[in-house]
Amino acid sequence: MPPLDEFARTKLAALEARGQRRLLAETARGPGASAARGGRGLVSFCCNDYLNLSQHPRVKAVAAEALATYGAGSGASRLVTGNHPLFAALEARLAAIKGTDAALVFGSGYLANLGIVPALAGAGDLVLADALSHACLMSGAALSRARVEVFRHNDLDHLASLLGAHRGTARHCLIVTDGVFSMDGDLAPLPEMAALARAHDAWLMTDDAHGLGVVGGGRGSSYAFGPDKVPVDLQMGTLSKAVGGYGGYLAASAPVIDLLKSRARTLVYSTGLPPASAAGALAALELIESDSALVTAPVANAALFCRLAGLPAPESPIVPVVIGPEDAALAASKLLEDEGFLVTAIRPPTVPAGTARLRITFTAGHERADIERLAELVRRRIIPRVAAE
Ligand SMILES: *Cc1c(COP(=O)(O)O)cnc(C)c1O
Repeated sequence: MPPLDEFARTKLAALEARGQRRLLAETARGPGASAARGGRGLVSFCCNDYLNLSQHPRVKAVAAEALATYGAGSGASRLVTGNHPLFAALEARLAAIKGTDAALVFGSGYLANLGIVPALAGAGDLVLADALSHACLMSGAALSRARVEVFRHNDLDHLASLLGAHRGTARHCLIVTDGVFSMDGDLAPLPEMAALARAHDAWLMTDDAHGLGVVGGGRGSSYAFGPDKVPVDLQMGTLSKAVGGYGGYLAASAPVIDLLKSRARTLVYSTGLPPASAAGALAALELIESDSALVTAPVANAALFCRLAGLPAPESPIVPVVIGPEDAALAASKLLEDEGFLVTAIRPPTVPAGTARLRITFTAGHERADIERLAELVRRRIIPRVAAE
C-alpha cells in the first residue's frame, strides 16, 4: 500500500476504535423541520436553520434574482473585483442590527474568526479564551501567535485571575468567547465579562453564531441581558445559522472594520461571497428585524420541550442531553431515528471527552405534536439510561 494510504488507514482505524470516526450521511432537507435520510422521512431536531429561513419563499426568490442578475460567483477577492453592490447594503443592515458603526462580511464564520483574531493580536499580546469556545475561534487564536490562555467555561473568577497574572506582561489583550455556546446552549456572562475587560484594558470579542436571530430580540447575545446593549467591542457571527444562508461577519467600530479590510488575511486572500448568498442574507435579516413572533419561536419551542422532558429551562434554542460515552450517545441517536426523529450524536473532540451528547436544536418550524413526542421519548427512554450509566 502506498505510504500515504497506509498512514490514512492507520489513523482511521484508531479513530474507529475510539468511536470518533465521522461519516457523511446524505440528508435531503425539505420545508419546515422535515429531512430525509436513506429514503426515509424524518423530523429534524439538529438543524441550525433556527428560523427555517433557508427555505423561505422570499429569501429564495431574492437569492434567485441575484443569481440571475450577478451570476453564480463573485469572481475575485472583494479587494479586487468581488465587491458587488449587495455587500454594502448587507453590511449596513448587520451593523444596524448589532448596534455598531460598521460591519464586514467574510466568506464564512470559520474564515471570519481565522481572519479577525490574528489581525488584532500577535506576538507579545495575550488572548484569553473560554474553554468551550468554537473550534475556529481557538484556531484563530492559535494562528495569531499571541500567548493563549484558556479559562474554565463561564468562570469569571478564573478569567479575572488569568488577567491578574498575565495582563501586565502583554501589550494588548483580547478576551474571546462564544455568545451562545454551540454545544451547550448557555450564554456567556457578557455584562460581567465586559466589566472585567474594561477594568483590565482588554478587548472583548463574542462569536455569536447561535445568537443572531434567536436571542436578544433577534439582535444576539449583546442584547440578551436587559434593555441596554452590553458593550462588546467585536461581535462576530455567521449568516449560515438563523440567517439560513452562508457567510460570516464582524460588527464593530468603523476604524476596526477599516483595519480588517487591510489586515484580515481571510478577507484579503479569499474570494468574495457569491452575490446570491449576500442577497438571500439581506432578505433574511429583513425578516428577522420585522417579525418578532418568528424570532421568539425557537427558544419558546425549546422551553416547551424542556418543561415536558423535565430538563432545566433553556437559554437558547440549543438543548444538550449529555450522555457520556460515545457509543451510548450513538445508541440514543439511533433510538430517536427509529422513532422518526433526526438528532445527531455529538462526540469528542467536538465536545470534551466523556461528554458525548444529543444536541437537540429547536426551530420556528417545529410542530407542537412532534416536540411533545420527542420530549416523551427523551424523558422515558433516554434520561433513565443516562442516570443508569
Ligand atoms: C457554525 C459556527 C461557526 C462557523 O460558522 P460557519 O459560517 O459555518 O463557518 C463559528 N462559530 C460558532 C460558534 C459556530 O457555531
